[in-house]
Amino acid sequence: MQHLKDKVAVITGGNSGIGKATARLFAKEGAQVVITGRRQDVVDQVVDEIGNGVVGVVGDVADLEHHQRLAEIVTRRFGNLDIYMANAGIINLTASANVTPEDYDRHFATNTRGVFFGVQTIEPLIRDGGNIIVTSSLAATKVLPDHTVYAGSKAAIAAFAKNWAIEFKPRKIRVNILSPGPVDTAILGKLGVSDADRPVLERHLATIIPAGRLGQPEELAHAALFLASEAGSFVNGVELHVDGGMTLA
Ligand code: NAD
Repeated sequence: MQHLKDKVAVITGGNSGIGKATARLFAKEGAQVVITGRRQDVVDQVVDEIGNGVVGVVGDVADLEHHQRLAEIVTRRFGNLDIYMANAGIINLTASANVTPEDYDRHFATNTRGVFFGVQTIEPLIRDGGNIIVTSSLAATKVLPDHTVYAGSKAAIAAFAKNWAIEFKPRKIRVNILSPGPVDTAILGKLGVSDADRPVLERHLATIIPAGRLGQPEELAHAALFLASEAGSFVNGVELHVDGGMTLA
C-alpha cells in the first residue's frame, strides 16, 4: 500500500541530503513531488534520478519572489498541494565573537525568513487537512559549540511551527517540526571541517550519539513520512527529534 497516494508534496532543498531522501520516499509512496533547489544542474540531475514524475523548481528561498513563482507553478500543474516541507537550510559554525552581520543575515534569510514567507505564500494552496513540516535542528534545543546563530535561526522556526499549528486550526492543517541530529549529508562538509578531518569529526560525533553513529538521510525521510501521512494524523505541533538520542547525551 502506498501511504501518500494522490497527494501533492513540495519539499524545499529537495535536491540534496534529507530533502532528496524524503522526495524519493514520498514519490515511492505515491505522492506527486515537487523539489526545489538553488542549482539548475543539480535539480535536473535529481529529477532524473528519482523519476516518478518529480518536478524540479530552481530558486533561492531567501528570495521572496521565488515562493510566488513556486506557488504559481504548483497552482498551474496541480491546483493545490497536501504537504509542504520547509527543509532548505544552511550552516556555518562560528563563535559569536566572530559572527559578521553578513553571516548572521545569511542564516536568518535562508533558515528563518525563507521558512516564514514560504509558509505564508504556500499555506493558502494547502488543501484542508494537509500538513506542514519544518526541518529545524537538534541545535535549537541543545547547546553545541559555535552553533549560536544557526541555533537561533532554527529555534525561531520551531516557534513559528507551534504558532501555525494553532493558527491553521480552522483548516485542520497539522504543522510539525522535524529535528535532526547529525546526519550524513553534504551539510557536514560545510561545517568548516576539511575532508581530511571529516572521519575524525564523524568518529567524535559517534561517541556522543547514544546510537553510536551518524544518522542516514533515509532515517529522517521515514520520520517525515510518519508526520506527513495518515500514520501521523493525530500528531500536531510536536518537535520530533530524530537524533539517535543525542538530545539526552
Ligand atoms: P544538504 O546541504 O544536503 O541540503 C540542504 C539543502 O538546502 C540543499 O538542497 C540546498 O540546495 C538547499 N538550500 C540551502 N540554501 C538554500 C537557499 N537559500 N535556497 C534554496 N535552497 C537552499 O543538508 P541536509 O543535511 O540535507 O539539510 C537539510 C536540512 O536539515 C537543513 O535545514 C539543515 O539545517 C537541517 N539539519 C541537518 C542536519 C545534519 O546533520 N545533516 C542536522 C540538523 C538539521
